[in-house]
Amino acid sequence: MMREGLNSVPEGFKILLAEDNPINQRIAVLSLKRLGASCDIAGNGNEALIKYIENRYNLIFMDMQMPVLDGVGAAIEIREFEKNNRIEKPVWIVAVTANSFSNDREECFEAGMNDFINKPFSEFDLKRVIEKCLHSNS
Ligand SMILES: [Mg+2]
Repeated sequence: MMREGLNSVPEGFKILLAEDNPINQRIAVLSLKRLGASCDIAGNGNEALIKYIENRYNLIFMDMQMPVLDGVGAAIEIREFEKNNRIEKPVWIVAVTANSFSNDREECFEAGMNDFINKPFSEFDLKRVIEKCLHSNS
């Protein structure tokens, strides 16, 4: 069987999955694994912020609906941290949402997120956004 791996994920490219639902976490981890990528996991937006400050990921998959601090709130905090610390290469943030309303999308981009995928997502969706992140020069 053909495997659509990501052969070009650079050494040290770090991904964080911010997702509160354990089943969705497993699905995303397995999909990423099949693409040849691994990730750390944060169970809510606040954990995502703390882990980002500690580990400086290259890419964050950010669930929109999470307890404690939601995806939009976490993205705003992360961008604030990057601004205050004069971080030159901001992390690429991909919003992951269960509904595809356009105001959701707008809210994500206003919060400083870079991209957007809907649930349920396919491996191809993940591959596409990772490649977009890799090819961005931000
Ligand atoms: Mg959720």
